[in-house]
Amino acid sequence: MVFQFQHSYMTDLPDTWLRAQPDRAPDPRLIVLNEALAHQLGLDPVALQLHGAAWFSGAELPEGADPIALAYAGHQFGGFSPSLGDGRAHLLGEFRGPDGRLWDLQLKGSGRTPFSRGGDGKAALGPMLREYLISEAMAALNVPTTRSLAVALTGEQIGRDGRLLPGAVLARVAASHIRVGTFQFFASRQEGDKVRALADYAIARHYPEIPATSERYLAFFDQVAQRQAALIAAWMGLGFVHGVMNTDNMAISGETIDYGPCAFIETYAPGTVFSSIDRQGRYALANQPLILAWNLARLAECLLPLIDEDQEAGVAILNQRLEGIAGLYQREWLAVMRRKLALSGEDAADAALIQDLLTAMTGADWTLTFRRLALWLEGDHTPLRALFEDFSLMEAWLPRWQNRLGDHAQAASRLRTENPAVIPRNHRVEEALSAATAGDMAPFMQLLQAVQNPLQEHPLYSLPAPQGFGAYVTFCGT
Ligand code: AMP
Ligand code: MG
Repeated sequence: MVFQFQHSYMTDLPDTWLRAQPDRAPDPRLIVLNEALAHQLGLDPVALQLHGAAWFSGAELPEGADPIALAYAGHQFGGFSPSLGDGRAHLLGEFRGPDGRLWDLQLKGSGRTPFSRGGDGKAALGPMLREYLISEAMAALNVPTTRSLAVALTGEQIGRDGRLLPGAVLARVAASHIRVGTFQFFASRQEGDKVRALADYAIARHYPEIPATSERYLAFFDQVAQRQAALIAAWMGLGFVHGVMNTDNMAISGETIDYGPCAFIETYAPGTVFSSIDRQGRYALANQPLILAWNLARLAECLLPLIDEDQEAGVAILNQRLEGIAGLYQREWLAVMRRKLALSGEDAADAALIQDLLTAMTGADWTLTFRRLALWLEGDHTPLRALFEDFSLMEAWLPRWQNRLGDHAQAASRLRTENPAVIPRNHRVEEALSAATAGDMAPFMQLLQAVQNPLQEHPLYSLPAPQGFGAYVTFCGT
């Protein structure tokens, strides 16, 4: 057996999921397989090549799979949907990697489930390749994320916005698929026993170091908050806009999950929004830390009955925790930005130094500015200047930064290991996905290769979008 599946979610958490069978793909074809990930996870790449078309399209189940769709709720753009759930995804089971960790294998785009509501349960090739590409870029950038094991074409054409597009399924690997919204589903139904069982399961799976005392649910909240704060800080360091930070898209494991309308910024602007439906800018770049706190407040509400028998005491404890989120995030963000600027140790003036850089670099390419600071230190000033229309604020800022640095040669080399030369730039992503949809996978494979080696300068993929590319708009759930 290639996957030694187990089904702990199914057996430990009865009545939190429903059985559902993936659709039988009529003409499956494996289009990308992540052999490096297969290797890391102790899966036989040869077997995956051989059976991947059938297994990862939903045409056939790998031995031991027992597919289910998980229940969850969620606040979407601030409004509560009590019943969402996996409407187009099937959890096939869990398997242990060589390091003993348990991984979920889930198919996405594999057909309708009892949670599909009006949806067709399907996915188009473009969005599944998009998730594959960006999640693999995030992994290469050391950001906690769900991973992509494969994409398979189903052989079906699916209708989207009046067009017929190739249907595809993504095989996703995740530490788990428990979301803030999973807790909300049961809390909103007053099913306190299930909230407790879910918390116990999540602790055992993701936070086994938490001791089994009466304080464990508070410790659980603290740990989730810590991991999420570190995650959002990592996103901010890269200029990553998730785009749909609904509570159902926030994983308890601390992994980035659900790559729908996400994108990386090119030029820095705190208000950047890509998603066509985010008209108010709720999930804009600079709002992400605020949404972190908002989403954690929703988790806290679910956990409240587990914190203290006296509800008022529980509220007081959790409120105090929630008040601490901004500070928690600020510490994580400072750590990220210090690394990006090669600042060793901590200086009380660092926060102001970093903030002043952000002001100075508004409108300049985020990724390239950090890379070209290395050249600046080495005396090559033109490339950095070329990124700015007005360099006067930088002119004032650079000596302050340089005075804070130790050895400049060392700092330059640190800048090159802390800051990527290649991110999945929007114009390149679009180019690769259009070609793939038209049947040519070559641009996708080239771009994938480049984003998997993000520290290496690339003659094509390190460059910003051409002037004519214009404002980038992304679309959800397609
Ligand atoms: P998302 O915006 O991708 O986070 O999805 C929000 C909800 O919509 C989840 O419950 C999904 O399972 C569901 N959903 C998204 N696309 C589809 C689809 N094509 N068919 C059925 N359900 C879907
Ligand atoms: Mg989602």
